[in-house]
Amino acid sequence: MQTHECDIFISGGGIAGQVSAAVFAARGFSVVMADPQPPVTEADLDGSDLRSTAFLRPARALFDSCGLWTLLEPHSKPLDSLAVIDTTGWPPELRDKRTFAAADMGDEPFGWNLMNWVVRRELWTYLQNAEGVTALYGSGFKSLVQRTDEVLIGLTDGARVRARLAIAADGKFSPLREAAGIDVSTTRYGQKALAFTVTHPQPHHNISTEIYNEGGAFTIVPLPDIDGQNASAIVWMNFGPRAVELMEMPVTDFEEAMYARSTGLLGRMKLKGRRSVWPVISQTADQLVEGRVAVVAEAAHALPPIGAQGLNTSLNDIAALADLAQGAPQDPGAPAVLAAFEKARKPDIRARAKVIDLFNRVARSGEGAMQAVRLTGLKAVHDIAPVRHGVMRAGLGPR
Ligand SMILES: Cc1cc2nc3c(=O)[nH]c(=O)nc-3n(C[C@H](O)[C@H](O)[C@H](O)COP(=O)(O)OP(=O)(O)OC[C@H]3O[C@@H](n4cnc5c(N)ncnc54)[C@H](O)[C@@H]3O)c2cc1C
Repeated sequence: MQTHECDIFISGGGIAGQVSAAVFAARGFSVVMADPQPPVTEADLDGSDLRSTAFLRPARALFDSCGLWTLLEPHSKPLDSLAVIDTTGWPPELRDKRTFAAADMGDEPFGWNLMNWVVRRELWTYLQNAEGVTALYGSGFKSLVQRTDEVLIGLTDGARVRARLAIAADGKFSPLREAAGIDVSTTRYGQKALAFTVTHPQPHHNISTEIYNEGGAFTIVPLPDIDGQNASAIVWMNFGPRAVELMEMPVTDFEEAMYARSTGLLGRMKLKGRRSVWPVISQTADQLVEGRVAVVAEAAHALPPIGAQGLNTSLNDIAALADLAQGAPQDPGAPAVLAAFEKARKPDIRARAKVIDLFNRVARSGEGAMQAVRLTGLKAVHDIAPVRHGVMRAGLGPR
């Protein structure tokens, strides 16, 4: 039976696990990453992640620090402005629109949008040749033994891993988090999010647009052109039954519905490829560490897809843990390192989860009083400059 010896074991090879492997290896740690599912690196294959991620400025800095940004940038579209549109009724009637410009906060875009399956492909290309990384796709985490100065991990193929630190980056249902005995608190909203790609006749001008109506946001995020046509990624939140109806709708009817829902903003959009559907929940781990296990990304927090907070918050976890571990190169899982990680990340995660929970409750409501709150809130956030700057800074995350 094979035993791998390393500094850090990472359970999960999704985007968060892959980035963790790249970041820790770039800082000189030996890393073993395991995931039962190999990465799906083509859009049309089953299991391909058809969501996009708007990586915000701190994410770009993290990618830069380990040489990943040069691989990702060519596939990205910069986001220069964020427009928020409030609508009411069906077909949606425009009530107000406010635009937030990245130039208000410095020279750079707010972020850069990439398709998730492309990110996984580029990260996987990088990891196959990265020094210090052993990527075990096809074999998952199975068991955990915590010792004073190491963890002993059992994998599903019978192999073992001895490490100083184990990182749970294995998703919402994280088996490593569960084995460490860490509970979660979960809120369900009765909403689902459809994620899909469109092409459209009108240019997006690098503006990401959130259009509010009953059921939640319809978010349009610019992508690089597809076959010479303007393209965007869409996340469309709805109450569950309507989401299922839209998922099953014939394409022409679906395109008609999204034209109405988008208020015709980019002209008649054409569906490009499949639709995928995702549950909308809010979930936070009660602790971020237990013994020598640290919990990051969706294993630590799953948030409704609003304001590009999910994976960006995950990357902030990884950056914080890597910075702290670098200060203890002999023992990245030392109790002092993990205690400092919990202290650094828990308040930020809690605060973001709370704000997004509140925002989602107001945003999805079709009720008159809540719609008035939404409209007043939008105007206040945009029109009062210090409030606007504070919200934009908080949304971007730590520098
Ligand atoms: C519709 C939608 C749109 C979104 N848009 C944005 C956005 O614009 N910006 C943003 O920041 N975030 C966004 N998010 C959030 C973001 O997509 C997720 O946070 C992110 O994809 C989750 O990545 P992860 O690596 O944490 O988890 P996952 O992708 O779930 O990866 C977990 C991995 O763990 C593996 N695993 C399972 N069991 C085991 C085991 N026993 N051993 C080892 N591995 C195991 C799985 O196979 C999987 O590969 C969005 C979310 C949704 C739903």
